[in-house]
Amino acid sequence: MYLAEASLQPPGITINTTAIEFLAKAAAQAPIEHRKWFTEIAITEVVIAHELSHILRQQPSSKSAERLAHEFAQTLTGLPFSPHVYEAVLKQAVKCQITKNTI
Ligand SMILES: [Zn+2]
Repeated sequence: MYLAEASLQPPGITINTTAIEFLAKAAAQAPIEHRKWFTEIAITEVVIAHELSHILRQQPSSKSAERLAHEFAQTLTGLPFSPHVYEAVLKQAVKCQITKNTI
């Protein structure tokens, strides 16, 4: 599951609002001081900044491009942790959801 995707030519950003809503709900367990960074608006802002980095650098997803895009998004938005955390929380939440559904 992805939060957003960028196309380089022509430049465009596709936002996965379902994934963002899901992540915002899953973040009920986030530490209280970070909870404001798990609203749909905050997450959307960060993922757009991340995708913008790919477009500005004209770099498709790769390990180094992901690191640079995360750094760019973090600097631009003032996020106090790496946006990688969003991906990790989302992955974990999806896993929990699947487990819950199969039991
Ligand atoms: Zn990326």
